[in-house]
Amino acid sequence: MKINLRLIFFSVFLFLLFSCSQNRPKYEQLLGTICVVNLYEDGKEEYYNEIFARLEEIDHEFGTDKMYSDISRINARADVEPVTVGDDVFKVIETALKICELTDGAFDISIEPAVNLWLINSAAPHIATQEEIDNILPLIDYKNIVLNPVNNSVYFRKEGMRIDLGGIAKGYAADEVAKICRAHKIRRAVIDLGGNIYVYGKKKKNELWNVGIKNPEEPDNMPLLKVELPQTSVVTSGIYERFFMRDEKFYHHILSPASGYPVDNELSSVTVICDNSMLADGLTTAFFVMGTEKSVKLIPYIEKKFNTKISALFFRKDKQIVLSDKFSYEYTVLYDNWTVKS
Ligand code: AMP
Ligand code: MG
Repeated sequence: MKINLRLIFFSVFLFLLFSCSQNRPKYEQLLGTICVVNLYEDGKEEYYNEIFARLEEIDHEFGTDKMYSDISRINARADVEPVTVGDDVFKVIETALKICELTDGAFDISIEPAVNLWLINSAAPHIATQEEIDNILPLIDYKNIVLNPVNNSVYFRKEGMRIDLGGIAKGYAADEVAKICRAHKIRRAVIDLGGNIYVYGKKKKNELWNVGIKNPEEPDNMPLLKVELPQTSVVTSGIYERFFMRDEKFYHHILSPASGYPVDNELSSVTVICDNSMLADGLTTAFFVMGTEKSVKLIPYIEKKFNTKISALFFRKDKQIVLSDKFSYEYTVLYDNWTVKS
């Protein structure tokens, strides 16, 4: 009897341990956000360690708060001489520059002087004056960024230029985590790097993933829409992510490279669905700046250039949702006061 009780106790303990350690996501604060990864039944400690070590490495290379990160070294010196960087940062800048070009500068990684002027991501944001903006606008032009693939170097043609990869780096990190999943033949995973989502593998017996997309007007409430997806990445950029209010005016973190001000158009948020999470990330920011119509028209061209499928949802301030042409995924809108514009 005594032994049996012990056995039962031990089995229950094992069961709890098993059910607790497996299928539970792991998270860490990195890349300026909370990174959550769930490997479900393949969630071995060593795989999680490998994934978070890789995310830490990316955080070190891209961190603007780290003195010797590649980005800090670029921003301190690339306007004087070419700065050699690691493969990760070089690859991201290379892709970012393609997106800058394809979006005709709506996405522009040389936006940093404007980001640094408004400080919208900080505890002490500042309302920039027109004079301050006029001073930094000449520094914003991705065409003055020169890459040399022979020695992985970055050079700025203009003194005072700086770059900001905040609009694309998390997408790259999500792709890198998906790569590790592939290498270990992990069957299914959800990678969520602060809204940069990658649903990997199959949910269960050929079931699709149900991904919820935030309501930009009520981001802490239930999702605005859910969409059924196979393995892919889903990235959203919205005005609710980082913003501040002053004198009843709303200032958010997506800036127009042309005016230097937070973008003020018909949009509240944009979601891009694409297997390439780095591309999806760059495009959400770019599409937000470009607005609905221009973005929808440009998608087929970008699909050709990157040889990949791109779908997008545009959430407008008038509570209309616009889908990109040939949007093929099943979706459900969960709020009565929002409609899909056809
Ligand atoms: P996301 O949340 O992906 O849209 O990225 C927004 C972040 O990208 C901001 O916090 C800035 O660091 C940076 N950013 C803002 N405006 C732009 C822009 N027009 N082009 C490129 N990066 C931008
Ligand atoms: Mg982005």
